[in-house]
Amino acid sequence: MDTATYATKHVFAFEEGNGKDKKLLGGKGANLCEMTQIGLNVPPGFVISTAACLEYLDSPTRALPAGLIDEVHAQMKALEVKTGKGFGNPEDPLLVSVRSGSAMSMPGMMDTILNLGLNTATLQGLIRQTGDPRFGYDAYRRFIQLFGKVALGVADSLFDAEFEAVKEQAHVKDDVGLSAADLEEISERFLKVIEAHTGKPFPEDPFDQLEIAIKAVFNSWMGKRAVDYRRQFNITTDMAHGTAVNVVTMVFGNRGNDSGTGVAFTRNPANGENKLFGEYLTNAQGEDVVAGIRTPKPIDRLKNEMPEMARQLDELRDKLESHYREIQDFEFTIERGQLYCLQTRNGKMNAQAMVRTSVEMEREGLISKQEALLRIKPDLLEQMLFPRLDPTIRAEAVAQGLPASPGAASGIAVFDADRAEQMGKELGQKVILVREETKPEDIHGFFASEGILTSRGGKTSHAAVVARGMGKPCVAGAEGIVVDVNRREAYVGESSFREGQVITIDGTTGKVYLGAIPTVEPDFTPELNTLLSWADEVARLKVLANADTPDDARRALKYGARGIGLARTERMFNDPARLPIVIEMIVADTPEQRQAALDLLLPLQRADFRELFEVMSPNPVTIRLLDPPIHEFLPDEHQLERELAELHRLGETTRGMVVLAGTMSLIHASDRARVELDTMRRMVDPALVEEAIAKKETMLRKVRVLYETNPMLGHRGVRLGITFPEIYQMQIRAILEAAAECGRRGIEVHPQMMVPQVCTVEELKKVKSYVDTIHEEIQQRYGHPVPFKFGTMIEVVRACMRAESLAEVAEFFSFGTNDLTQATFSFSREDAENKFLPLYNQSTILHDNPFEVLDVKGVGKLMKLAVEWGRTTRPDMPISICGEHGGHPSSIAFCHEAGLDYVSCSGPRVPVARLAAAHAVMAQQGAA
Ligand code: PEP
Ligand code: MG
Repeated sequence: MDTATYATKHVFAFEEGNGKDKKLLGGKGANLCEMTQIGLNVPPGFVISTAACLEYLDSPTRALPAGLIDEVHAQMKALEVKTGKGFGNPEDPLLVSVRSGSAMSMPGMMDTILNLGLNTATLQGLIRQTGDPRFGYDAYRRFIQLFGKVALGVADSLFDAEFEAVKEQAHVKDDVGLSAADLEEISERFLKVIEAHTGKPFPEDPFDQLEIAIKAVFNSWMGKRAVDYRRQFNITTDMAHGTAVNVVTMVFGNRGNDSGTGVAFTRNPANGENKLFGEYLTNAQGEDVVAGIRTPKPIDRLKNEMPEMARQLDELRDKLESHYREIQDFEFTIERGQLYCLQTRNGKMNAQAMVRTSVEMEREGLISKQEALLRIKPDLLEQMLFPRLDPTIRAEAVAQGLPASPGAASGIAVFDADRAEQMGKELGQKVILVREETKPEDIHGFFASEGILTSRGGKTSHAAVVARGMGKPCVAGAEGIVVDVNRREAYVGESSFREGQVITIDGTTGKVYLGAIPTVEPDFTPELNTLLSWADEVARLKVLANADTPDDARRALKYGARGIGLARTERMFNDPARLPIVIEMIVADTPEQRQAALDLLLPLQRADFRELFEVMSPNPVTIRLLDPPIHEFLPDEHQLERELAELHRLGETTRGMVVLAGTMSLIHASDRARVELDTMRRMVDPALVEEAIAKKETMLRKVRVLYETNPMLGHRGVRLGITFPEIYQMQIRAILEAAAECGRRGIEVHPQMMVPQVCTVEELKKVKSYVDTIHEEIQQRYGHPVPFKFGTMIEVVRACMRAESLAEVAEFFSFGTNDLTQATFSFSREDAENKFLPLYNQSTILHDNPFEVLDVKGVGKLMKLAVEWGRTTRPDMPISICGEHGGHPSSIAFCHEAGLDYVSCSGPRVPVARLAAAHAVMAQQGAA
């Protein structure tokens, strides 16, 4: 058909419409045209265009466009020829369905009218022809109700009341028990309902029926349900082009045992297996499958029941896949040994099935490697990497927090780390550690727990970062939960849970549930490995991991990390055995005291680094010098005050007991009693208590001295390294000695030292001077070269502005976008996510959470400047990102465009990042 004719037409036979033109034909109409034109057996039909709908709605009198009805009549004539039936012909009636279909799918918005064309005369024809009055009346009553509801606006409840009345009268419980006579009575009652409601008899002329139905579908576009739906999902007028009307010949799956209906996927959507997957019912209509009155049979059985149909279904499956080059989810009907395909669309699958089908379809030559990669949204891979809640289980969450570390876990709630360790490690119980927030001293509780739940803190809080590193699920900042550690109970609105009660957390969604919900285990399949190896071939960005321990590093390697992009050394101090030494290091009064603590830490750190180098060899290991907001390591001031008050009370009691024991020994005559009282007096020595009080007071004084109003903007990072050079010097020595030892043993190492929180090159120069002195000394001592690189984090706004100058000393940059986001927005990373950000996101003041999705317009702009200026000084300088955004797909796309060399993210995000890095290349090439 030439374009001019095409443009003037309102109505298109399925053989004529352009299957790609969803705007004009609606999604369903275009699809039916395409299916027909690729040779699938689609029941004949036609589409009335969305343009006709808009013209109709625009006309002041709501009149159908001129000539439309003539086109419809012509198409009905053509249908009569194709089917050999007659519209309104009582001998062999042609019946059609009428349904809406807009360009964007709007599920359930506008209903379908089935069996249009039935009237008193054609009904009798249908009954004669099928020899089945029950079938005839059943079709009739369905038509009257649907037409009444959709086209004439009669409430369903009026029909339901009549239906129930007849069922009661016939003493029938299920619809299937109704006889032909019952259904006839129902039809008559329905006709009366319509007449009473509209004041007119039910339209008998099939063409009148059709015209009313077409107008009703057009009108429904402006109906409340559709308008509300479009508003809800932000479908604007320019995205929505009205609805098309699809008129399709009815086929009946309920015309005997050689008929049936079913739904199928061309491959198994649960595991991707290359085998038809679905179910069907013999002698039934599609509605029966949906209504769940009868249990459908697995599709395999069709081979025995209708072998020829099973063969044709296999053929249909091949046609669908080779045309759409995608797994299809389709509906079919068999009418008296004829197979019809009624609808098809791309199948929705879980991650495992997506990955398997991607790899297998590439191998079958159906799709290219690029297409295989592009089929899968990187985030979907998380399903394959973490346990998730069994999707078949329905459960109501009691609280919502931040999805801080993905995966799901159940266990008994435990309110402190010691108890978690005892219950988890010693008694082998599954435990969820529940805290208001966590601190380094809780770390042993992390190890013993299945997951972590906190009521405060954001996605970069201690709990979140540590849990992510360990690959354990974490829900952080669930502010609806009030944790009462003393009563060992947590309150959530009306309900509560006590210690020992089972709860379930889902760190992928941030939801918290009472009781145990089964989980599905992750599955790192060989197909995923294949797919990711293809991704690596395409990607330019390398993917490294944030890993602090050898275990983290091993896990990261398993996920395909090409090195460590960030080892946070403060996390290495989490060990309860080390914590007192670290506290000593921080609160030391004199350099000598501090040095004593550092002397104890040096061999421990050296061993830490050596192990990381060994695991990661020959890949680079980037070690960040200490960056703790020091409050993280210190005891809580209020806790100290409480303990001190307790000790003072104990002191008074002790002194009282000593006096009492003295007095009693005076009045007691027996030697034995005197000896016992003496022992007691010694045991409750007040001097011991006083010593403890003195120690606590000293600690409290120091904690108060070190107190900072804004610790995250305070005495941390390189500031600490400048004020206490010995701390950084110890770490630098430990790194270089560990590297030297590995070198001596022939292990290839590439240590990278990284300085946090830098804002001026003078800071870098100072730290570099420590490095140079120690490096020279170590090389001399070991007698062989010790390679290393010296670089800086870029996480302070000024560092971006001064990148040109920083690059004079730094050999590499790594963007710390957690802090850089905090600094750019002036939003506290600890608080924003559960205070005002949700509202900001909901009301779209900010589209995304900038701590999760890199703010390309603001933070990204600073990054681009820093990249440009940094490389002005040092053109081939490696630049990376190690904030949480390094594992986020759209942020990775930005990093690719901005010319970064690698991203670093928590180990379990590495596969997601590898795929996202490949997508970034393809998107840039315009393939996405
Ligand atoms: C950052 O700020 O992005 C970063 C990686 O460092 P941290 O989260 O440890 O402050
Ligand atoms: Mg930082």
